[in-house]
Amino acid sequence: MALVVQKYGGSSVADANSVKRVAKRIAEAKRAGNDVVVVVSAMGDTTDELLDLAAQITPLPPQRELDILLTAGERISMSLLAMAITNLGVKAKSFTGQQAGLITDAVHGRARIVDVVPSRIRETIEKGQVAIVAGFQGVTTETNDVTTLGRGGSDTTAVALAAGLDADVCEIYTDVDGVFTADPRIVPAARKIDRLTYEEMLELAASGAKVLALRSVEYARRYGVPVHVRSSFSHAAGTLVVGTHGDRIDPNAPAPAVARAAGDGAAQKEAEMEAPIISGVAHDRSEAKITVVGVPDVPGMAARIFEVVAAAGANIDMIVQNVSAAQTGLTDISFTLPEGDGPQTMAALKSVQDELGFASLQFDDQIGKLSLVGAGMKSHPGVSAALFGALRDAGINIEMISTSEIRISVVTRADSLDEAVRAVHHAFGLDSSEGEAVVYAGTGR
Ligand code: ASP
Ligand code: MG
Repeated sequence: MALVVQKYGGSSVADANSVKRVAKRIAEAKRAGNDVVVVVSAMGDTTDELLDLAAQITPLPPQRELDILLTAGERISMSLLAMAITNLGVKAKSFTGQQAGLITDAVHGRARIVDVVPSRIRETIEKGQVAIVAGFQGVTTETNDVTTLGRGGSDTTAVALAAGLDADVCEIYTDVDGVFTADPRIVPAARKIDRLTYEEMLELAASGAKVLALRSVEYARRYGVPVHVRSSFSHAAGTLVVGTHGDRIDPNAPAPAVARAAGDGAAQKEAEMEAPIISGVAHDRSEAKITVVGVPDVPGMAARIFEVVAAAGANIDMIVQNVSAAQTGLTDISFTLPEGDGPQTMAALKSVQDELGFASLQFDDQIGKLSLVGAGMKSHPGVSAALFGALRDAGINIEMISTSEIRISVVTRADSLDEAVRAVHHAFGLDSSEGEAVVYAGTGR
């Protein structure tokens, strides 16, 4: 008997019929002899709608109240799901994040899980019942207030519960068949990836792939939780995200259904030996670029600028400093940051303009970032040249470049990003020959 944590995303429970459909699937897993714990997201685009609603009341809602508002979304879906499962003759009970023992720090809106005490969930399993847990929320012991984990946080709830309960697998159910070589909404020729290491998945998620929340992957890696990303609309095997050596998957233990589906030992070894150079192309539209123009090229300038940026709370990504013009001794420094951090960062820099003596500031939110990710690329020369060549052939200008061992990222104009993703996906031979990827539901919002 296996203990399975299943997480269903918003598009899998978008309306009453979807809730009933998912309930059937959960009842099946339970009747097949598994212990089942379910984490559920808010229905459809509920979280966005709640945020829109708050914005109509006030431009700057108090974070504590916003968290209480947003946790309501997951409470709706968890209780409806428990009703639907009970209706099928399987006992089920729903729990808020607080009731499920998800303890976080007190940073509203992006709280971190500090402890998981799932005693009520364990009791429920022991009684042979299905436990449904509201995703993306917890409670902080500092104030006893409810908190949320940040957008996409239900993935993290699921992985944290899987770790806390020592589950055999954490299944993430979504509206596509797994992790693809690019977003199938943009690249219909994208191919499903059968198996990824935590490191590759981390780079993809950090580069904008939304199929798994970044923090859930960090958590899975830390605790060695095998994650199976798959569709709630089909029974096809999805993408298995695991450590290089399979981590907690014991080769002598009978393989859980999921590991078998994704390939037995021999097939897995073969897959590793023929591991492709590139795992995928990710894209991100959520960043903006700030350029500090006419910066005196003297020691300490970059330090001062980025002290100011850090104090404004911005999490910067890429940085480019140009060679200073010989005649003027001035240079430009550009960096990217989450779009939402733009206003306070611009204000902070503006306030030190006289002190630092730079000429002006530019803000640009019409940028897109494309990232090519693959653990195999570090041993293959010429990957960047091929990437730049593909963009040249598509007539797309590169504004910034950054690289790591297993990733190359470029910034382009936002309106040429989709084309850039398709061009690079094609140039690296990632296009599938098996027809178009299926997007079962969801708006991708
Ligand atoms: N409902 C939350 C969101 O839309 C959490 C989640 O779905 O993972 O971000
Ligand atoms: Mg999600």
